[in-house]
Amino acid sequence: NSKEKGGNCIQFFNESMRNSFQERLEIEHSLRLAVDKGQFELYFQPKTRMNSVTSMEALLRWKDPQLGYVSPATFIPIAEEIGLILQIDEWSLFMACKQNKEWQDEGLLHVPISVNISAKHFQQDSLIPLIKKALELSGMEPRYLKLEITESVFIKDPLQVAEVIYRLKQLGVLISIDDFGKGYSSMYQLLQLPFDEIKIDRQFITDIHQDEKKALLVKSIFDIAHGLHLNVVAEGVECEAERDRLLQMGCDEIQGYLFSPPVNKDAMRKFLAEADDQLVRVPD
Ligand code: C2E
Ligand code: MG
Ligand code: MG
Ligand code: MG
Repeated sequence: NSKEKGGNCIQFFNESMRNSFQERLEIEHSLRLAVDKGQFELYFQPKTRMNSVTSMEALLRWKDPQLGYVSPATFIPIAEEIGLILQIDEWSLFMACKQNKEWQDEGLLHVPISVNISAKHFQQDSLIPLIKKALELSGMEPRYLKLEITESVFIKDPLQVAEVIYRLKQLGVLISIDDFGKGYSSMYQLLQLPFDEIKIDRQFITDIHQDEKKALLVKSIFDIAHGLHLNVVAEGVECEAERDRLLQMGCDEIQGYLFSPPVNKDAMRKFLAEADDQLVRVPD
């Protein structure tokens, strides 16, 4: 069979490339419409310490009428390329702050909300005013906002980014380094800048209980982070064996499908309303 089609291999390759190009155009087009119409939804995934929720991460969901659900892993990089990410992040930020304030006012939860902010945003003068505006509009205290940024923010202009980070800290918001270890290493910046938290990328967490080299590496990251008074979060924890190993090594907080996948606001509200007080404690 494959022999038969052998001669068509190149053609097949072109065909699939053409399809993915068309798919890409379709996503771009639909994404622009979605931004105009605000066709997004926020999901929420807790981070926990000893079965207490310490923070809630807001994760964007987009369901297009034709394309169905498109993963943020697919559409966020496209949005960054075609210049839509600023508006998308703004939407997430405003909605997340508003939701968290609502939960606070209802006495359901008093923890920081974590919002993912694209590296692209750190090249903009508009970031600081945007954060101020989100806090102002929601009425939420700055210490209840945690920004998750990836190491890639440091690629372009580390000095400029450092300045933005200092200004954000002055505002009183918290800063987390997401996907730590995944890409460009920010060990140097990590030693220099006033971050509050690092989140170890899922690739280092998966099967950590079965991989001694992985465990050794992650343990050394924990030790450095703790020496710097940084909170360490493990992302993508899916089973008890992973969690137990991480806790034994000194991991501060856990996030992943084991405790809860990201869920929509109705499901989260129900969960919070039914949870006992100890679960939704106020962090110090
Ligand atoms: P992230 O911030 O590192 O979020 C973690 C991703 O891992 C999320 O994927 C989450 O659903 C998934 N996840 C959580 N626990 C587990 C687990 O136990 N196992 C596995 N396999 N996966 C788990 P999601 O929601 O698809 O988001 C992907 C990425 O898109 C995020 O990675 C973040 O970088 C980006 N993103 C999401 N929302 C926004 C946003 O509003 N603005 C920006 N700039 N980026 C966003
Ligand atoms: Mg994140
Ligand atoms: Mg990750
Ligand atoms: Mg992450």
